[in-house]
Amino acid sequence: MRHRLLALLLLTSLPARAEELIRVVVERTGASPRLVEELPLDDYVAGVVSGEMPASFPAEAQKAQAVAARSYALVKKIEADRAGRSFHLGASALSQVYAGAAPNPAARAAAEATRGEVLVQGHEPVEAFFHSACGGRTERGLEALGRDLPYLVSVPCGHCNDAPGVRWTLSRAGAELGKALGFPGPVTALEVTAHTPSGRVARVELQVGGRRLGLTAVDLRQRLGWSKLPSLAFEVKARGGVFTFTGRGQGHGAGLCQWGAAGMAREGKGYRDILRHYYPGTELARLY
Ligand SMILES: [Zn+2]
Repeated sequence: MRHRLLALLLLTSLPARAEELIRVVVERTGASPRLVEELPLDDYVAGVVSGEMPASFPAEAQKAQAVAARSYALVKKIEADRAGRSFHLGASALSQVYAGAAPNPAARAAAEATRGEVLVQGHEPVEAFFHSACGGRTERGLEALGRDLPYLVSVPCGHCNDAPGVRWTLSRAGAELGKALGFPGPVTALEVTAHTPSGRVARVELQVGGRRLGLTAVDLRQRLGWSKLPSLAFEVKARGGVFTFTGRGQGHGAGLCQWGAAGMAREGKGYRDILRHYYPGTELARLY
């Protein structure tokens, strides 16, 4: 009954036939103008699950991913429609990785099994960010993405310890580091000056030539390359002019931890438990 009421409220705040179509910009090399693919929401969801999660992951993890992807897509659709944009989402990791019109069977099954289900809080669909592996504890939306949302809080995970590359190191000589960061000279010192409440790095200070420079950790990661510095849960040590970052986790750390979801599913948890864990205070509603 409660869910039916929520769904009704949700429907009234959505444009007509919202459940049916979503417009995705699919970037193709050399294509001009950009290609916009219009497709049913659940086909899009299957394409995202296929692009974002290995087909070998347990079914309950795939379903959690499907609900997260559908919820996120709805938020973006509502935003785009309000702003009068001609498309809702891109197909890359800047939105959600959309693998195209031929999703793997596991992804298709997850989209169908959760058809019409979205996460809501306060009658609004949830901006359900997700990432690969948190490395032990998720990050708040505010620190990870500048998104201060009540359901993007830091929660313990402990289910993603077997994720490939969950522990990593990156070594860079001072000159190389200076160049990668866009500085005129080599980095001679690098110090972490602030942490976020989840223990990730928030700010660093660097010595470049005679100057001391401060950088946010998000800026540092962006300049070094998102995949080169896989997360902000790191320590850094200098020896012989070489800086070594030792860290854990992959991605920004906010919302659903994909490898953690797989771990929870293997322990017998269902997709509702998984979603409740990574997005505290949210509820599942059936939109159509
Ligand atoms: Zn995790």
